[in-house]
Amino acid sequence: LTSGLEAAWTKLKGEEVLTKENIVEPMRDIRRALLEADVSLPVVRRFVQAVSDQAVGVGLIRGVKPDQQLVKIVHDELVKLMGGEVFELVFSKSAPTVILLAGLQGVGKTTVCAKLANYLKKQGKSCMLIAGDVYRPAAIDQLVILGEQVGVPVYTEGTEVKPSEIAKQDKGMMDELKDVKKVLNPTEVLLVVDAMTGQEAAALVTTFNVEIGITGAILTKLDGDSRGGAALSVKEVSGKPIKLVGRGERMEDLEPFYPDRMAGRILGMGDVLSFVEKAQEVMRQEDAEELQKKIMSAKFDFNDFLKQTRAVARMGSMTRVIGMIPGMGKVTPAQVREAEKNLKLMESMIEAMTPEEREKPELLAESPQRRKRVAQDCGKTEQQVSQLVAQLFQMRVRMKNLMGIMEGGSIPTLSN
Ligand code: GDP
Ligand code: MG
Repeated sequence: LTSGLEAAWTKLKGEEVLTKENIVEPMRDIRRALLEADVSLPVVRRFVQAVSDQAVGVGLIRGVKPDQQLVKIVHDELVKLMGGEVFELVFSKSAPTVILLAGLQGVGKTTVCAKLANYLKKQGKSCMLIAGDVYRPAAIDQLVILGEQVGVPVYTEGTEVKPSEIAKQDKGMMDELKDVKKVLNPTEVLLVVDAMTGQEAAALVTTFNVEIGITGAILTKLDGDSRGGAALSVKEVSGKPIKLVGRGERMEDLEPFYPDRMAGRILGMGDVLSFVEKAQEVMRQEDAEELQKKIMSAKFDFNDFLKQTRAVARMGSMTRVIGMIPGMGKVTPAQVREAEKNLKLMESMIEAMTPEEREKPELLAESPQRRKRVAQDCGKTEQQVSQLVAQLFQMRVRMKNLMGIMEGGSIPTLSN
């Protein structure tokens, strides 16, 4: 995956900016690299779309080259794709916390049991392992040995099982798992999946989640997965996060899943990433300082007003997208439409102002003739223009008050 993506950056060497045209080839490389890494097609499609949307819309950051900028965009999208944050294990309020591990043959369940006990023990928790794989006596012995290794007691019972019961297991593994879950009432139900199965891993997590309801996944054998498809797809496809990953056969080789570290590892360009982040930070600071200066000297004008309002409107339409996710809808489409309509209205009025009037709103405040002219030029009423001018001055007062609070100064009283 890493080397596949490299081709994409190389194609942007020597370009000045990212454009719709010059990202076509790099996007094709990214798409190919992800597919080769065994990420499923729908996920790849959404990913590529998200990256190209941002790449074209992104503003120039001083000193940052387009290829570096694209690396950063891809990085941030990778992090988002993998769930963004670290999903911690949940513990029950009153002990014990029951963690149920499930998964197909040979994926690494027994190993994970011992690794997880070791991991939690190091956090000062006291653990006990219960061998539930009664169908394979060897599995119990294996757990006992591993438990001894990490110094955690293992509870075993009833290793004698008739072949008929082994057959029963083959018939209804899912049903049996449902029963076990009902009896144990676990806080965490984690599906152990083998990273080497690629996009199949994401499909498995989905199936188990639909069938028995799980709280997350543990991805094992990440040390052997050179392609990375499983880690990338699980969250997006199944909706369930990867909570932990196994990176080797030793008892210490279990760690939380950090999407940002994983993305960094995939891209292998740590220096570029931190450079772009620093440049972005400097830009943000300069922007903020400039805005602050303007506010303090009451220079906040119609140009700034437009910039601010547009930024808010963009957030509005973003919220609308978020609103499509069930259970997250807060902003109604009607509200968003209303905000967009207001923005259009303001834009047309501000566009009818002369550059001088935009920079010195006082001119409009003082002259009814100017307000009348603006109104005529954009086909709105004088009252609407007066409202907009008043709004800007209100905003100046509000922002100044806000700065006063932030700087620990006194809050001036508003005069009418
Ligand atoms: P189970 O059938 O699901 O209980 O799987 P086991 O825990 O018995 O593991 C099957 C094999 O995978 C064993 O040889 C383990 O040592 C190996 N294994 C488990 N986890 C990892 C891992 O993260 N990396 C590597 N390289 N091997 C692992
Ligand atoms: Mg086992």
